[in-house]
Amino acid sequence: MSEPARDHAGGCACGAVRYRASGDLRPVVACHCSQCRKAFTNYGAFTAVARGGLAIDNEAEVTWHESSPGVRRGFCRRCGSALFWDNSAAAQVSIAAGTLDQPSGLTQVRHIYVADKADFYELGDGLEQLSQGQSGNPWPGSARGGGGA
Ligand SMILES: [Zn+2]
Ligand SMILES: [Zn+2]
Repeated sequence: MSEPARDHAGGCACGAVRYRASGDLRPVVACHCSQCRKAFTNYGAFTAVARGGLAIDNEAEVTWHESSPGVRRGFCRRCGSALFWDNSAAAQVSIAAGTLDQPSGLTQVRHIYVADKADFYELGDGLEQLSQGQSGNPWPGSARGGGGA
């Protein structure tokens, strides 16, 4: 007996970009790397879905920025909401968890790139903290070459 995979939907702040994520979503990882610090005003909370499970309804509204070689970040060209983190070498695409429609049903499990976090806040939630990325994690999401979720 298994639960059917739940479909999720989400979008940017202005509504120009909507997407659907089909299949199991990875637990949320909070990335405190310098790229996320700037893009998200502190850190990026990311889930991830199998590459074929992400359907962007109106991708023409998404601007892709190559943040490091082979890695691109997608944001709404109208309102600037950061939405996607896509490492072309990974089997999953990361989704900014805060853009999911609520309730997401997800749980945050760890912090990564804690060594790069801003100095004006502390982490006190007791979750695992990695100073760098999470290579070797069964749900790869971090990339060599800086940043990642
Ligand atoms: Zn928008
Ligand atoms: Zn990051």
